[in-house]
Amino acid sequence: MSEIKKIAIIGAGASGLMAAIIAVKEGTEVHLYEQNTKAAKKILASGNGRCNITNTHTSSQDYFGNNPSFVDYSLETFGFSQIQKFCKNMGLLFNVLDDGRAYPLSNEARSVALSFESFALSKGVRFFTDSRINRIEKKGRKFTLFHENLSSEAYDKVLISTGSEAAPQLGGSTSGYTLALSFGHSLIPTYPSLVQLHLNSKVHDKMAGSKIDGAATLYINGKKEQSIHGDLLFTKYGISGFAILDISQQASQSILNYQSVDIGLDLLPKFDRQALSSLLLSMCQNLPHFEIETILSGMLPIKVAHYLLEETKINPNTLASHIHTKMTKQIVSKIKDWRFEVCETHGFKHAEVSGGGINTDEVNEKTMESKLCEGLYFAGEILDIVGRRGGFNFAFAFASGFIAGKELS
Ligand SMILES: Cc1cc2nc3c(=O)[nH]c(=O)nc-3n(C[C@H](O)[C@H](O)[C@H](O)COP(=O)(O)OP(=O)(O)OC[C@H]3O[C@@H](n4cnc5c(N)ncnc54)[C@H](O)[C@@H]3O)c2cc1C
Repeated sequence: MSEIKKIAIIGAGASGLMAAIIAVKEGTEVHLYEQNTKAAKKILASGNGRCNITNTHTSSQDYFGNNPSFVDYSLETFGFSQIQKFCKNMGLLFNVLDDGRAYPLSNEARSVALSFESFALSKGVRFFTDSRINRIEKKGRKFTLFHENLSSEAYDKVLISTGSEAAPQLGGSTSGYTLALSFGHSLIPTYPSLVQLHLNSKVHDKMAGSKIDGAATLYINGKKEQSIHGDLLFTKYGISGFAILDISQQASQSILNYQSVDIGLDLLPKFDRQALSSLLLSMCQNLPHFEIETILSGMLPIKVAHYLLEETKINPNTLASHIHTKMTKQIVSKIKDWRFEVCETHGFKHAEVSGGGINTDEVNEKTMESKLCEGLYFAGEILDIVGRRGGFNFAFAFASGFIAGKELS
């Protein structure tokens, strides 16, 4: 009779759960260690409680890292149709939106977490919750894990799927990096991504709570990099909203690299400058007894209209009849390109994901095995791969977990 193979997986998040389900089979025992008292906390909190589980179209262009094409093999092997089929097999159906984002049909992240956990249990994966692994030792071909002062039994293979340091309240931590570094792996510097931004200005906090359907343009060292349409929300510390989360990866990485970061806000992207100038002039002519602030508050949140005028040094109480062409130009310039200096991000606590991570040059993308230590594997966000918003981070966590799971068994 052949010996039973023993596998340890550290981290019961998206990638660890997927790997455990794939790896467990007759003759292969899988032990899944999780520091939290329950598995899949990030899945539960994801997508505003709805879990944007994947996307119909994924490619390396949706990812950032020193080598984004690292994702190609896993996403080609376990792409949208494979994950949809896999989930259907465990009773989890998808609702696919027109833009490609896929959510559970139930619209509840809970059903994703429950399906993965129940399926893993039903296949015989053994869960060890409340077990934070602090150290891994390899003697000969066998691995031993250490948590608190206890040591585990010996394992043939180990997967580190501990995620990143983003959202520590949900289990985000740097401990996976420490485990990997102890085997000689290197860490590409990490930075928060899909995160709100702090602004260096005198007015953002005064406009806190004002929401705009606008556009944000990112400038790095004064050079225009990208523009994104979407929600903008002023806050006490700076700015949030989907457009901001979408530009935050590049903004955050640039801050890490000591570059100067600015954003230009277009508060009315539906109008070009000329159309907006004509509209404003005609409103001022038609409503000469209105104050300019009243006129602007017909198109912008009142607080924004007020502080925008203050910034242009135009008294908000100026009567429309006194607004001349030069003033209109100043107002339109501010509305179409209000510049703010970005001084930092809102930090890992508020970030959905982390950029940087374990150097992918040291991991075989076709097996997820370490190139430095035989029998050691990686999957998910611990690696130097971070995705755009839209289900891309789970897509890679599940795909890399699938590849690792196959290799582990
Ligand atoms: C609020 C929020 C919303 C999000 N929404 C989406 C979304 O809708 N779509 C999307 O694609 N992505 C989303 N993400 C990102 C997504 O959750 C992650 O990219 C994904 O969970 C990464 O999977 P993972 O398996 O690598 O890590 P994780 O899911 O983070 O799992 C890692 C697990 O390892 C455990 N762990 C860590 N260290 C140890 C240790 N030493 N010992 C034992 N256990 C340990 C952690 O507690 C955790 O449970 C969101 C993230 C957040 C924070």
